[in-house]
Amino acid sequence: MPEIIDEEGNLLPPAAIREAAGASGGSGGAEGDSVNLFKKYELGRLLGCGAFAKVYHARDLRTGQSVAIKVVNKQRILKGNLTANIKREISIMRWLRHPHIVRLHEVLATKTRIYFVMEFAKGGELFAKVVKGRFSEDLSRKYFQQLISAIGYCHSRGVFHRDLKPENLLLDENWELKVTDFGLSALTDQIRPDGLLHTLCGTPAYVAPEILAKRGYDGAKVDVWSCGVILYVLSAGYLPFNDPNLMVMYRKIYKGEFRCPKWISPDLKLFLTRILDPNPITRISVNEILNDPWFKKGYKEIKYPADNEFEFKDSGGDMEGNMFLNAFDIISYSSGVDLSGLFDNSRNRVTSEMFVSAESPERIIERIEVVAKEEGMKVVKKGQGIRLEGNFTVMVEINRLTEELMVVEVKRGGLGHDIWKEKLKPKLNDLIYKSEGRAAGLA
Ligand code: ADP
Ligand code: MG
Repeated sequence: MPEIIDEEGNLLPPAAIREAAGASGGSGGAEGDSVNLFKKYELGRLLGCGAFAKVYHARDLRTGQSVAIKVVNKQRILKGNLTANIKREISIMRWLRHPHIVRLHEVLATKTRIYFVMEFAKGGELFAKVVKGRFSEDLSRKYFQQLISAIGYCHSRGVFHRDLKPENLLLDENWELKVTDFGLSALTDQIRPDGLLHTLCGTPAYVAPEILAKRGYDGAKVDVWSCGVILYVLSAGYLPFNDPNLMVMYRKIYKGEFRCPKWISPDLKLFLTRILDPNPITRISVNEILNDPWFKKGYKEIKYPADNEFEFKDSGGDMEGNMFLNAFDIISYSSGVDLSGLFDNSRNRVTSEMFVSAESPERIIERIEVVAKEEGMKVVKKGQGIRLEGNFTVMVEINRLTEELMVVEVKRGGLGHDIWKEKLKPKLNDLIYKSEGRAAGLA
């Protein structure tokens, strides 16, 4: 297996890569100094380092398209016991399609690392532009509108960012906003579970007061607060709550104590006061933001595809030497679920399929149980799902996507394929979530 990135996520020098690729008999390093990942992507320069990942530029070898690849060391995830979280977050990220949210194209993995292949934001970080000088009120409004559109889209699907901050706001080649790290925030939260560690890792400047107080909080209101801090920074050019002494800074956040510079218009000042309200109950909501006079100026509703206009596409369940794992395999694989029964030994092939359902997990299991028994299969409850055993094994796993929706994943090896496709699936059509009459999310 060509190892092109070392344990720390650093790129190996080309010679080492060629050697590694050569040693495995792959064509990985055959073309000059190019660095191939899964023979699908040519890796390039380091774009940035996050709290637990490194992000590289890469080129899709098939289409020539630029992508960004985030490399996460799986060990860190296993250590933090985050597998269930990641699985959920990946399904969410793949479900989100909005012009101002960085798209997650696919997820690949080796035994040691997970690769998030994302849309490439060519313009870099938004805040690199602000440090060169604050934005005009119109430009601040433009980015804030794009941000709120993205946030509202996610909230309406039960997804909260919870970690909105400058590093996660990127720009594309046209300098349009792209929010990144959506859904992955829960992961970061867990890596830094206590507030203390969190403040050591970065600034609490964007964190809502109710989080500092460690009270239970509403994800939507927390995101709104962070958006307010971001809007302030864009138009003022500096932070609303800041002090070299952390305790003083915390106190300012608790009280929602900030001052606006003189160039900020009265309308914007009023708007900021409504957003940076330390009481989450009275703080403005996304819907109210959409109706605010300052916000509404020049706002064109941002179009995004309806949920039924796309399909889940998986990179396939081909487990060549355990190199190609799709998002869902990664977790089952790492959490120690025994998939060996699913593999056709000759081809090492497992097929995986997902659908979205609005039924409860209990109801989904109940329905599948009934049709499986009709086919004379044995049903065994297994963790978050069930295993159907007959001449072939079919594994069904259910994970929550949002408050209302479940992702049902069906994995089967070799001939298990036929029994699922021909016998079981046709009887389960009613489980599939349909929006506006069409099935959503069928791989
Ligand atoms: P982490 O989740 O560990 O904080 P990030 O996803 O925030 O990692 O990525 C770290 C940095 O890499 C970002 O601040 C940004 O500079 C760069 N980066 C991340 N994603 C992209 C992307 N899609 N396009 C371009 N640069 C990116
Ligand atoms: Mg980040």
